[in-house]
Amino acid sequence: MATTIMKFGGTCVEDADAFRRVVDIVKSHASSTPVIVVSAMSRVTDALLNSVDLAAKGDPVTALDSLVEHLQRHLDVAEALMADPLPISDTVAAARTEIATLLNKVNEQQNSRPALQDEIVSFGERLSADLLASVIDEAGPRTQYVDSRRLIITNRDHGRAEPIVDLTNEKTRSILTPLLRENVVPVCGGFIAASVDGTTTTLGRGGSDYTAAIVAAALNANELEIWTDVPGVLTADPRVLPEARTIPRLSYGEAAELAFFGAKVLHPKTIQPAVEQNIPVHICNARSPETEGTIVCRQTEVSPHSVKAIAHKTGITLIQITSARMLGAHGFLHAIFEIFNRYRTEIDVVTTSEVSVSISLDDATALPDIANELRRLGEVHIERQRAIICVVGEGLRGTPGVAARVFGCLSDINVSLISQGASRINLTFVVEEEKVREVITRLHDAFLLSETVQFAEKVPA
Ligand code: ASP
Ligand code: MG
Repeated sequence: MATTIMKFGGTCVEDADAFRRVVDIVKSHASSTPVIVVSAMSRVTDALLNSVDLAAKGDPVTALDSLVEHLQRHLDVAEALMADPLPISDTVAAARTEIATLLNKVNEQQNSRPALQDEIVSFGERLSADLLASVIDEAGPRTQYVDSRRLIITNRDHGRAEPIVDLTNEKTRSILTPLLRENVVPVCGGFIAASVDGTTTTLGRGGSDYTAAIVAAALNANELEIWTDVPGVLTADPRVLPEARTIPRLSYGEAAELAFFGAKVLHPKTIQPAVEQNIPVHICNARSPETEGTIVCRQTEVSPHSVKAIAHKTGITLIQITSARMLGAHGFLHAIFEIFNRYRTEIDVVTTSEVSVSISLDDATALPDIANELRRLGEVHIERQRAIICVVGEGLRGTPGVAARVFGCLSDINVSLISQGASRINLTFVVEEEKVREVITRLHDAFLLSETVQFAEKVPA
């Protein structure tokens, strides 16, 4: 059955006005047999996690008090938008009682915390989805709230559970398909799931995208729509470059590169189930539903300018280890990586030359200790306040001279640690942090990213 999965993030359901926008969007999509996946109302997951912390520290009463305003937000929406808000206020009252009991248990049984925490946190999505189902049902298409713990079956890795794919597909199909046949819109909470024995689990922060992609794959959906409050994926960070534009189409690979370098897009892992089924992922703006947004799919066109986007990340530290004696010697790189590993410090980009290794780091907290150990291997040089710039586009793969154009327009700027990713669709390098705006502006101009582009050539899937 041809269906569209519509996922609404927390900011899309932050208050009554936001709910109203969602209702209008769903109404206008009623003909595409949608399944709705919704996050908790914005800030609710944080509040629930914080309440678990308070309870674990021995104060379940304050913990419960801290949730009152957030529970009330659900009632406010029901009162603003529903003729009869009573069923919702009963649901919220019951949730409050259950959460109170669970918070007491957290206080008494610290060992069971992971399972209890998932149970408590699940109320965010359970309440938002139940509320959204009721609000839409009153305004338009018939809906049914579906508890996602019946659909998504996972292992017991609390807080970052992984779905058991066959079981999840089977449950999702057998529960949702009959509803869709009856023209009922299922409304499911994202992020929450259950283990085989029925214990509540969660899929990790931001996990509602993952839920939506899992459901899309199970139902072999036509499209996965991710509704947020940003205008799709942009050619650059608009805080750095206000003239940045929405990119109409990206390949899965391009989206993955951009996500890694901090552009506000989908996490590659969370859309993997959709990628495997070749389902297009459409990033849409709930505040401006008529605008196009960004479509992420396998089949994509090469931008005539080769480059589609410039991502960047500031606060980077660069480390250079030079050792004429050691480099090339067996085990040298291993010895370096082992040190970073021991200090649990993730490496961003690595390049090597004949006599030196350059490494960029996002998190430099352990740097003093790391540097001390590295000095045993060679001479260590550290540069702080650097930024990584990442130029992304499928067109980089086949177009000669892109690198020359990139560095040609930066000839007077100090560039280091140049690397072209294994996927060959990105070109990454490091500059001084204070040069970021200048560099991005020049590249954006050089590759005409402010212009509307006519995509022509297709890249074969
Ligand atoms: N509510 C969950 C979170 O805040 C899941 C999500 O919003 O995607 O992490
Ligand atoms: Mg979210």
